Amino acid sequence: MYIANEARYEDMVYRRCGKSGVMLPFLSLGLWHNFGEGSSYSNAREMVLGAFDRGITCFDIANNYGPPPGSAEECFGKIVRKDLAAYRDELFIATKAGYRHWPGPYGEWGSKKNLVASCDNSLRRLGLDYVDLFYHHRPDRNTPIEETIEALEYIVRSGKALYVGISNYDSELTENILKAMEDRGIHCLVHQVNYSMFDRRPEGKLMPLLEKHGVGAAAYMCLAQGILTDRYFDGVKEGSRAAGNSVFLKEEQVTAEKVATAKELNAIAGERGQTLAQMALAWCFRTAPVATLIIGASRLSQIDDNLKAMENTAFSEEEIRRIDRILSP
Ligand code: NDP
Repeated sequence: MYIANEARYEDMVYRRCGKSGVMLPFLSLGLWHNFGEGSSYSNAREMVLGAFDRGITCFDIANNYGPPPGSAEECFGKIVRKDLAAYRDELFIATKAGYRHWPGPYGEWGSKKNLVASCDNSLRRLGLDYVDLFYHHRPDRNTPIEETIEALEYIVRSGKALYVGISNYDSELTENILKAMEDRGIHCLVHQVNYSMFDRRPEGKLMPLLEKHGVGAAAYMCLAQGILTDRYFDGVKEGSRAAGNSVFLKEEQVTAEKVATAKELNAIAGERGQTLAQMALAWCFRTAPVATLIIGASRLSQIDDNLKAMENTAFSEEEIRRIDRILSP
């Protein structure tokens, strides 16, 4: 029987998510890869319980994570049922809908029909009465935002989720939906944003906008799927995501140019007494209004490595200048 580490809250840094009552951990664990049907259940369980033992309270899933879609929710639901049921109030569980999940006109995007059905299906797979956070996973230009908002509001009012968020909305669409949500008296807790040293676009308009509206940011892909670690310094080796079956990171996407940039950054990380992964995470965490960094992992030791980023999250002006120089095109 699993009994959680009594010291689990001692070392974790928690940050308030925008203007809300919710504190989120420095790292959240994302279940996009390595929790599907073909992945090892014992490894998945070890990562989830190990993360929780280290103060990671927030777990990020989506209806389509697997493969096949839905299987990551089933896997996580099994772990919660068997090991974490007694700790439900200590967990902040997020899921999403918006990408294609089932055939026909209602299996994706932003209609009330899609979002409510998907939320119900997620709760069934997770074996939960409610999720803590329900996201609209991607914007839908063909559905009136009022309908999407109505669906999110209904999901909260009916007790299926405690909070709502958005993901992958650009700054213009974000501004539109945040204003419309505020008009209806609904608070958007968090925007889940692709943000890393390799993708700094959110720094321009999106991050300041979120801050203005009191919305937290959950940064994802801060390690560029592993390219911002030492994973690919000696080529694409067996066992890595780029060498596996992921359709989202192919070997040819690990370019010599990206690896060369990662190595330059690694030299600065070394001077800071960090691994590149740790520096890449610390670097994202310094941007307001980032509340949490959603990492992926294929083994518990990576989570441990990444958590050490908390030991040095400050950057000198000189370090920032040097990093900017390396990253500028
Ligand atoms: P990351 O950039 O965090 O990459 C994670 C991968 O990097 C791991 O699976 C592992 O790959 C490698 N890695 C992690 N830590 C280390 C380390 N210390 N040393 C060496 N390699 C390491 O992003 P992900 O792509 O995994 O995304 C994270 C989460 O963000 C997802 O699980 C999901 O929850 C969320 N997300 C949300 C999206 C959205 O649209 N809202 C889209 C994409 C992700 P390896 O297998 O090679 O070991």
